[in-house]
Amino acid sequence: MIVGVHPLAGFDRILHYKVPEGLQASLHVGSLVRIPVGRRMALGVVGSEGSPTDFPVEKLKSVVQLIHPFPVLPPDLLELAKWMASYYACPLESVIEAMIPAPVRAGASLKEERWLSLGEKLPTDELAQLERRAPQQARLYRFFLTQMFPLKKGLVLQRLRVTSPVAAALVKRGLLKEEVRRLERVAYADDVGRGEAVAAIPPTLNREQLAATEAMAATVAEKCFQVSLLHGVTGSGKTEVYLHAIDSALKAGGGVIFLVPEVALTPQTVARLRSRLEAIAPNHRCVVWHSHLSEGERLDGWLALVTGEARVVVGARSAVFAPVRDLRLVVVDEEHEPAYKQDETPRYQGRDVAVMRAKINRAACLLGSATPSLESYSNARAGRYRLLRLTERVDSRKLPFIDVVDMRIEVARQRGLSALSRRLVDAMHSRFEKREQTILFINRRGYSSSMLCRKCGHVEECSHCSMAVTYHRVDETLRCHLCGDTRPAPVRCPQCGAPDIRWRGLGTQRVEEAVRRVLPKARIERMDADTMARKNRFRQILGEFRTGKIDILIGTQMIGKGLDFPNVTLVGLIDADISMHVPDFRANERTFQLLVQVAGRAGRGDRAGEVVVQTFVPHSETIQFSRQADFEGFAEAELRMREQFRYPPYRHLIHHLFRGPSEEKLKYFSEQWARKVEAVFGNRLELRGPSASPIEKIKDLYRWQLWYFTPTVSRIIVELNRLRLEFPWPEDITQVLDVDPANLT
Ligand SMILES: [Zn+2]
Ligand SMILES: [Zn+2]
Repeated sequence: MIVGVHPLAGFDRILHYKVPEGLQASLHVGSLVRIPVGRRMALGVVGSEGSPTDFPVEKLKSVVQLIHPFPVLPPDLLELAKWMASYYACPLESVIEAMIPAPVRAGASLKEERWLSLGEKLPTDELAQLERRAPQQARLYRFFLTQMFPLKKGLVLQRLRVTSPVAAALVKRGLLKEEVRRLERVAYADDVGRGEAVAAIPPTLNREQLAATEAMAATVAEKCFQVSLLHGVTGSGKTEVYLHAIDSALKAGGGVIFLVPEVALTPQTVARLRSRLEAIAPNHRCVVWHSHLSEGERLDGWLALVTGEARVVVGARSAVFAPVRDLRLVVVDEEHEPAYKQDETPRYQGRDVAVMRAKINRAACLLGSATPSLESYSNARAGRYRLLRLTERVDSRKLPFIDVVDMRIEVARQRGLSALSRRLVDAMHSRFEKREQTILFINRRGYSSSMLCRKCGHVEECSHCSMAVTYHRVDETLRCHLCGDTRPAPVRCPQCGAPDIRWRGLGTQRVEEAVRRVLPKARIERMDADTMARKNRFRQILGEFRTGKIDILIGTQMIGKGLDFPNVTLVGLIDADISMHVPDFRANERTFQLLVQVAGRAGRGDRAGEVVVQTFVPHSETIQFSRQADFEGFAEAELRMREQFRYPPYRHLIHHLFRGPSEEKLKYFSEQWARKVEAVFGNRLELRGPSASPIEKIKDLYRWQLWYFTPTVSRIIVELNRLRLEFPWPEDITQVLDVDPANLT
C-alpha cells in the first residue's frame, strides 16, 4: 500500500510513502502520520492512496507512525483545505495546520482518571479481621470511611503509600468503588451561562419567525446545499430561528457548526444556545470553541466532535474547521462582522469559508444579521441566496427614538470641541435621576486622522476613488489609500474657508473625564483595550453593569455585541462619523452597521429607549437611513455607489503588500512587478498603485502595496500567484497576498 502525504514541514508538495503491514488496516486518507523527510522526521496528513508517477516505488520510504487511530482531516475538510489554498493563494500546509489544533498535532489524547469511593460498609468485627489479615487494605478502607466524595485513585494510593493491587482487592470485594472518569474540561462550563437568566422554554414564534423556521426545516430535510440570508431587525428574534434550524438538523441525525464573531463578546448568545440545546438534545454535548481555550479543552472538544460524541460546535472563526460529522447546517451569526476575516496566513474570510464548507457537505447555510454585508445582500438580490426576513421586533417593541445632534452647532455654541453635546448631557442627567442606565459608545475605527471641517462638516476625499483621504503630518500631505494619489493638505476648508480642519477622534479616557465632570456622583466604568486585555475584568464589569452597580458604561462598539441590558434606556454615540471618514470604500457600510447595532442596545426591556447620535454630518445619507433603520434604502443607495466605482461586491479586491529594508528597492521592484502584471493580464485585472502603504514602515521594514480589482478570483489567482513565484524578487523583499480583505487600512 502506497500513500501520498502532505508533509507539515515548510514546503507544499505531496510525498509518497510505503505503509507497513501493521498500519495498513487503520490508515486512511486524512490520517496524521509521522514520516521521514530528508534526514528528519515530520508530521504529515495522508492526502491520497496510490503510487507516484514520477518516482520509482522501490525507493520509497515508509510511514513510521500513525498518530491517531482516526483520520484527523476527514475528506470534506481536505477538500475545503485545497479550495482555500487555491482561492487565498496560501500554502496548503498553512491551511491544514489551521484546521488541526496544536494538541492534536502533538499526538495528545484524552486522559483517563480513576477515582475511588466507599462501597459496602463492613461490620466492625469483619474490619478487625481485615486489619489482622491485610493491614494495608484495612488502612485504605478506613481512610475512605471518613471521605464524603470520590477521590483520585493515584493521589490516595501515593499518600497512603499503598499499592494498586491493595485497592484492587478492596474493589473486588465491593468495599471500594472504582470509576473511570474521562478528563472532561468542558469549556466555559462555569462562566458563560452562569448568572445569565436563560429561558429554556421556547417562546412562541411570530408569523415571520415561523415562516423562516419552516423554510429552514425544509432545506435541512432536503439535504442539499443552499444559502439563506436571515435579515432580521435588532430584537426580532433571529436566535430562535437559529435554534429551530439546529433542532431540525439534530433531529435529522446531522451535525451543526454555529459561528459567532467572538465568543467572549457574545456570552448571552452562547448561553442561550447551550441551555436550549441541552433541552432539545440532552444527550448531546455542545462544544464551545474559542481562542482562550487551554490546550486540554481544545483537544477534548475536538475529540468529542471527531468521535461524534458531540454534534454541535459553537465558536468563533476557526470553528468552521471543526470536524463535525454529517454536517447538515452551518450558521453564521452577525455575518457582516469584519472579525470573520483572519488577518494572518491563511487570510481567509470565515463567512465565505462557511459557505464553501456547507457546499462541500451538501449542507444548509444560514447567514444572519440585522445589517447584512452588501456582499451577502447582493447575492440574495441576485437570487443566489434565499432571503428570509424578520421585520417585526419580538413583542412588537418599538425601535428606540434616534436623536441626531449636529456637532457643528455644538462647536459654535461651546466655542470648541467638547466630547458631550448639551443634548446628551441632559439625557444622561435624567436617566441618572431615574436610576436607569446609559451606555456611551466611542467609535474607534481607523488610526488615522482625516480632514474634517468642524464648521461645515466637509470631508476631503480622493477624486478617483470617492474615499476619505488620510492626513500625513510629516510632509503635510493628503494621501489616498487605494490609488496612492498625494497632494498638499489644505490649510483652510476648501468648502467654507474655515481654518484648522484637521481632526482626531476622542479617546475613551477623555470621554470618561468629561462625563465625570458633568455627573460627579454617577458610577462610571470604562471598557477599552486596556480593560479588554484582562479577560476576567471584562466579564466582571459586564456583571456589575447588569446588576446595576454601574450607572454609565463607556466603551468601544465591541461592548455592545449581542448584549441585552433591560435597564439601559439611553445610548450615546460620541462620534458617529469617525468610521465614515475612514479611508475605506466600506466606511458608510460600517457606519450604518454601527449605528443600527448601537441603537438596538437601547430600550430592550419594557421601557422605551433613546439614542443620541453626535455627528458633524447630520445630513448624510448613512445617518438618515440608519435613523429610520432602513437597511434596504441604505443598501440600494450604497450599492449604486459601489457599482459606479466597481467596488465589491461588483468586483473582488486583492491586496498585495511588499516589505523590505530598502525603500528604493521596494519601489523599483513593485513597479517592475506592476508592469509585468499589466503586460500579462491586460484588462482582465485592474491595478491601483503601487504606492506606499498607509503605515509606511513597521519594525524597520518599509511597506509598499498594490491593489488588484477582478471580476472573479478563482480564474485569476492561480495564474497571478504562479507569475509571482516566478518573478525574480530579491531575497530581502517579502510579500503578502490578501484576497477579499475586510479593511483597506
Ligand atoms: Zn468647512
Ligand atoms: Zn484614490
